[in-house]
Amino acid sequence: MLGLAKVEAGRDGLALGEYPIREPGAHEVLIKVLVSGVCGTDMQIYHGQGAFGERVKLPTILGHEMCGRVEAVGEAVSRTQAGDLVSLESHVPCGECRSCRTGRSHVCAATRYPGIDFNGCFAEYVTVPESIVWVNPADVDPERAALLEPLGIAVHATLEGQGVAGRTVVVNGCGPIGLMNVAVARHYGAASIVAVDVNPYRLGIARQMGADLAVNAAEKDVVSTVRRHFGGEGAEVVFEYTGSAAGARNTFQLVAPLGEVKWCATPAGPIEFDFGLWRRGRPTIHNIHGRRLWDTWYACAPLVYEGALDLAPIASHRVPLREGREAFELILAGQAVKPLILCD
Ligand SMILES: [Zn+2]
Ligand SMILES: [Zn+2]
Repeated sequence: MLGLAKVEAGRDGLALGEYPIREPGAHEVLIKVLVSGVCGTDMQIYHGQGAFGERVKLPTILGHEMCGRVEAVGEAVSRTQAGDLVSLESHVPCGECRSCRTGRSHVCAATRYPGIDFNGCFAEYVTVPESIVWVNPADVDPERAALLEPLGIAVHATLEGQGVAGRTVVVNGCGPIGLMNVAVARHYGAASIVAVDVNPYRLGIARQMGADLAVNAAEKDVVSTVRRHFGGEGAEVVFEYTGSAAGARNTFQLVAPLGEVKWCATPAGPIEFDFGLWRRGRPTIHNIHGRRLWDTWYACAPLVYEGALDLAPIASHRVPLREGREAFELILAGQAVKPLILCD
């Protein structure tokens, strides 16, 4: 089968190659991949940066966001069968540690990931543990179902703490998940939403996703512009998706006293941060990682199935697997939000 893998360390190092299809073990599922999504984590691996960029074994087929059809199942598999239309949770928690045994497996320190620790879904087939398979209704559009995993982060972030209903919101950073978070916050009843980014193309999509105001941080003073929008005050909830020192500074200057910061970004390396800003504003910081298993999926999937969220603007481009590198190049050029790789 064809697979797009990281084969060399450092920047790029991607190559398309022929790989064997791995037959499922007793607790595993073999899936024919229909659609995959390219994620910020894949970009970190592309650049050879950050925790995941250093962690990935070579060669590994990349990709952890997808929708596909079950081809075959191992003998001990009971929850899914051949023909099922499935999406994947991208964390494979160990199941044994304290976090896993106390209902918090999304923060399992021994989690393994497809596309990082074993071959992922930028391929014609992928073999994964049954434990990370989510079965969709048969009539769901695979392109939408492939977005459930990243959407789950935005849903998790939104529902954490006191939620967003009736509250003022800033989404700081409009990558794919930040943009999804705009729509999710709107869906859950945010009173007013400001989106911040430096890319005019992404700010345009933020407006489509439901932002009341989109602020270009490269052109305007973010803090004074956003505060003016909220009547001179900060926002009750700020979602931090920039992962940059300047973005983090903005986040803590934008949040209202005793508000909530949902910290969703993973900086590529150490960043400087003035904790005095946190002491002065006194927000609660929620450290958002992945999706609660499986609470977030039960909340998130129906939003897509019932069409409560329009995610069409997020899936900005489609490229066939054979030209999968192009998906990375589109992101590098700032021209794409989330390119989908069509693997069928
Ligand atoms: Zn991802
Ligand atoms: Zn664990």
